[in-house]
Amino acid sequence: MRIGALALQGDFREHLAVIERLGHEGIEVRTPDALAVVDALIIPGGESTAIGRLAVIYELVEPLRRRIANGMPVLGTCAGMIFLAAGTTGAAQPQLGVLDVIVERNAFGRQVDSFEADLQVAGFDRPMRAVFIRAPWIEKVGGDVEVLAAVDDPYGGGSHPVVVRQDRILATSFHPELTGDDRLHSMLIESVEER
Ligand code: GLN
Repeated sequence: MRIGALALQGDFREHLAVIERLGHEGIEVRTPDALAVVDALIIPGGESTAIGRLAVIYELVEPLRRRIANGMPVLGTCAGMIFLAAGTTGAAQPQLGVLDVIVERNAFGRQVDSFEADLQVAGFDRPMRAVFIRAPWIEKVGGDVEVLAAVDDPYGGGSHPVVVRQDRILATSFHPELTGDDRLHSMLIESVEER
């Protein structure tokens, strides 16, 4: 299988290393031509405004929307989740709008408030170690969005989704590519096999 990672900014190389470890071909996607040959796509963490602006400059926004609308499986992590989403609670920024959620950027605080947690993800038999780096959480979910994991607001504001799925779009607030736990990447590959 050919699994792409959007390679405009952020830690796409770590994602591609996971893909290669799972025995598939990892492809850096920077152009519509590269996008056209992949079976699935990962949108990495990084800085969502940078990824969004570069996607506009590289003329990738419409090709991405089209392939995702046509059922290409996608995994968006952290900034990648923000880029997939319909909106943020803050100022407007380029977003694909294919995942029916509103995200709060930097929801847990600043860089120094980054943390790790053992997260219970629906359908997994044991918790997943999750690395949150200036992470967003999901503020609002649409009707077709399934919540697979949530965390409590450290300031007592209730629980917020951090792993969601809508059709073949999977999104996480944290960085699954950093811990050696490949279960979410395997889920992406399974949804290519199911297609
Ligand atoms: N804080 C970044 C943003 O809002 C996301 C950080 C990350 O991807 N680790 O885009």
